[in-house]
Amino acid sequence: MRGIALLGSTGSIGRSTLAVLKRQREHFRLVALTAGCNRAELEAQAAEWRPEFVGLAEQQSDAPYPSGPGVLVDAALHPGVDIVLNAVVGSAGLDATLAALRAGKRVALANKETLVMAGDLVTAAARAGGGEIVPVDSEHSAVLQCIADRPSAVGRLILTGSGGPFREWGAERLSIATVSDALNHPTWRMGKKITVDSATLANKALEVIEAHYLFGLGYDALEVVIHPQSIVHAFVEFCDGSVLAQLAFPSMELPILYALTHPGRLPDAGVRRFDPVAAGPLTFEPVRAEVFRAYDAGVAAGRAGGTAPAVFNAANEVAVAAFLEGCIPFGRISDVIEHALDDHRREPAADVEVVRSADRWARERARALVR
Ligand code: MG
Repeated sequence: MRGIALLGSTGSIGRSTLAVLKRQREHFRLVALTAGCNRAELEAQAAEWRPEFVGLAEQQSDAPYPSGPGVLVDAALHPGVDIVLNAVVGSAGLDATLAALRAGKRVALANKETLVMAGDLVTAAARAGGGEIVPVDSEHSAVLQCIADRPSAVGRLILTGSGGPFREWGAERLSIATVSDALNHPTWRMGKKITVDSATLANKALEVIEAHYLFGLGYDALEVVIHPQSIVHAFVEFCDGSVLAQLAFPSMELPILYALTHPGRLPDAGVRRFDPVAAGPLTFEPVRAEVFRAYDAGVAAGRAGGTAPAVFNAANEVAVAAFLEGCIPFGRISDVIEHALDDHRREPAADVEVVRSADRWARERARALVR
């Protein structure tokens, strides 16, 4: 029986995790539970699951349990926690990831922003403490499942992306896309921030950077292909040219379960069985990087390294929030990212304070740009 801390329980990944845990009660025990600010849902979950630790990441002085940003680390380090499922959205999840890895725990990571922001520090924390990062992101889960125990023979990774709702749109139409257009994702049901990231393809750039840190491959060995059906989640090419792929109908419950059981597997009746005929024709297209500039800017930031990925991530978060609030048009998201990266003076990401300071600088710069 392994103990789980679930951080970010009221988001899309958090709810899917609870659905998986409900079917796997004989193997996993929910020890700690935290949410961001959705107190009503957190309390309903706590009443059902009766975890030992409940916390709200937003400071609310009248809450009958701990609240404030420190609860994420407290939940991750709570006695009896073996696996921390980090489904916090954005950079707020970084400290809990670092603390859990230093304490030798497994981090099932849905919070890709923390790897993008501070990939060198996160991988160093895992090495130092004996912790392990297992991806929840479907593409990276697919890679891990294909690699199995042959990481040294991997030559190239190809991550797939659905292309989002604007896969076939031209640059002009794209520049005036509305919030409801952007939230109308063709294959995945996710939170708002990641759905907009999927529409700009910033999400694929975040995932390329995530893959770089998770699998230790250079950027020349990392590619993205558009695959509108979202059935193949990634391809892994080995040094002899042979390619393996992982296939499943799009659902986050399978990668969540695998992140808990890796390298083993458990039967799960809740996952829809694959049917190649029902999956239908599978098609692949190149990324239109000239239209989806946020993708190009993000991959370039990854290649540049140091504080550049943190700046890309922070500028993107601010621009997406401004778009969702109706302050800027869709086409301006990539402008804000490009300008923030152009204006940034890159430094080596030597420690958490350097990364946080680059993050703060980028947020301020991006806020000025969306005004
Ligand atoms: Mg993904």
